[in-house]
Amino acid sequence: MNEEKKNYTFFEVIARIIPIQFQSAPFNCILENLLAVIHGLSFSLTVVATQHLFDTIAKAAVNEAGFQDCLVSLLLLSGVTFGQQILNGVHNFHGTGILFPKSMGKLTVLLHRKLKSIDPAQFENTDFLDDLNKAREGIRAIPLFCMILYLCISFYGVYFLSIGVYLFTLKPMLLITLLLAFIPAILAQTIQVRVFTRLEEQSAPLRRENEYYQKTICDREYFKETRILGAFSFFNQLFTGTMELLTCKIWKAEMKTALLKLMLNITTFAGMGASAYLLFTATMNGEITIGMFAAVFAALGQIFAIMDEIVGKHVSSMNKDIGKVNNFLHLLDMHERTGLDGIPDFTKGVAAHGISYTYPGREKPAVKNLSLNLAEGETIAIVGENGAGKSTLVRLLTGIYRPLKGRVTIGGLDTGEIAPSSLYKGISGVFQKFQRYKMTLEENVAISGSPTKAGSHQAESALREAGFEKGKIRMDDMLSPEFGGIDLSGGQWQRIAIARGLYRVNGFIVLDEPTSAIDPIEETRIYKQFQRLAEGKCAVVVTHRLGSAKLADRIVVLDSGEIVDMGTHDELLSRPGKYADMWVAQAQWYEREEEKLVR
Ligand code: ATP
Repeated sequence: MNEEKKNYTFFEVIARIIPIQFQSAPFNCILENLLAVIHGLSFSLTVVATQHLFDTIAKAAVNEAGFQDCLVSLLLLSGVTFGQQILNGVHNFHGTGILFPKSMGKLTVLLHRKLKSIDPAQFENTDFLDDLNKAREGIRAIPLFCMILYLCISFYGVYFLSIGVYLFTLKPMLLITLLLAFIPAILAQTIQVRVFTRLEEQSAPLRRENEYYQKTICDREYFKETRILGAFSFFNQLFTGTMELLTCKIWKAEMKTALLKLMLNITTFAGMGASAYLLFTATMNGEITIGMFAAVFAALGQIFAIMDEIVGKHVSSMNKDIGKVNNFLHLLDMHERTGLDGIPDFTKGVAAHGISYTYPGREKPAVKNLSLNLAEGETIAIVGENGAGKSTLVRLLTGIYRPLKGRVTIGGLDTGEIAPSSLYKGISGVFQKFQRYKMTLEENVAISGSPTKAGSHQAESALREAGFEKGKIRMDDMLSPEFGGIDLSGGQWQRIAIARGLYRVNGFIVLDEPTSAIDPIEETRIYKQFQRLAEGKCAVVVTHRLGSAKLADRIVVLDSGEIVDMGTHDELLSRPGKYADMWVAQAQWYEREEEKLVR
């Protein structure tokens, strides 16, 4: 199930992410580069204006120029410097205030779209969850990476090219010395790329673990249990342990790069000294004017400061982020679950033909060589002990998972061939681990809506069908104290989940034991109601409570992923077996329950 990951080189990363970033904000990408080019040119223009000013002053000293010439040169330099400051502000604002958030938003949407097409079975795979965690880090890294790239090419590139031409015309050796000082810095950065890619690879699983422990300590849903059961210190210890490991890894990587930076600073210092010496001898020999000396000497500091900024800050930030960008690209490269279009025809029912499924990392199959036919208008109940494979079978029958062996057809469509979006169109379900959306009551029901069902009336009637007592709760009440709303009881939440399942237009509906927080009597009532609503549809009910299973047309008894018995309630009771044993164990319970229901 794990896909081979291509490790992109620096240039391959650039070739992949520039089009992605460009598509996310084309106009802003062009504007960003345009601003960078003008900004870069303004720096070189400052050097020329400085030279002009000093030459004019030197001429004025020997009466070859007047006060007015000096004033014009001074105004020229001031104008260029002022324009450069304005450009600096506009460029920074556009990059960090507009392009960065815009790209991040679009990349997040791109990731969400990709996740929608990835096989849901991948979410059971811890390697995939690690990759997802790493890819999310990449969302922030990509716009930053691209902006630095634009800065390096369009701003620093233009600045160095123009100043390089200027220096070359003054003294070619000056340019060569500057370039030589750059080489060790580039080598140091290549090593840094490796260090940070490895760091990212190693820290993603640790970070995921660490975030989870933090959740168990801070999140509302864990809060009560961790405090009452005294699990706080246990989780805190785990949190601290993973945090220490993470910090240690980061510390080691930072240490290596700090040493590299030290070497880099020494070479930069040597390069600057050599350039200053060359400049001085050229002026003394009369090869360049005083104005040129002053302009280039002032620019030297800036050139080295910019080089240091590029290598020490920008390239090192790109190096740190390249691992994260690579991880984002790995996720985009992941195989998508696609397929043909189709419309399920539920007169053909739902069928499993010799299907098997084994979870990633497991040896024993959760479902083994299983065949089952569900006709239109039929309700089957799936029963079995914990871990028998009931939920897995439901995921296979609804097309969420594709069987590793055999085939499942939903309304005549093979789940192995048809696109999930076509399959899910006619299916509705309520699952064991349903969600409590931090939204209004109406939204909690209507998110499963389809174009034919809309509005609060339908949501209200679905709630009624699910036995939800609204009382004083309004449809627009927010169901989350965190968002200033109210909370509900476990049973009420389960009824909302059932209403959500009923609200969706469907030809095949599944109830995967969503009623565990509802008492057995109420559960049987809900299932009776469900049976009426499921009339004419294909329906599957998973339950541990045989009083509810009894209502189904047929009961399938699962054990270790295989069907060990099948029939109506009476047929199964008439013979010795797992079902009869389970019924005896629960019988007393239902005898009392039936009495109450009659009353
Ligand atoms: P229960 O009644 O407790 O909900 P079930 O009958 O629905 O159980 P399944 O959840 O389908 O059983 O699990 C069947 C087998 O597959 C079990 O051995 C379980 O440990 C294993 N299993 C379920 N989910 C996963 C998973 N995500 N990864 C690995 N193994 C899994």
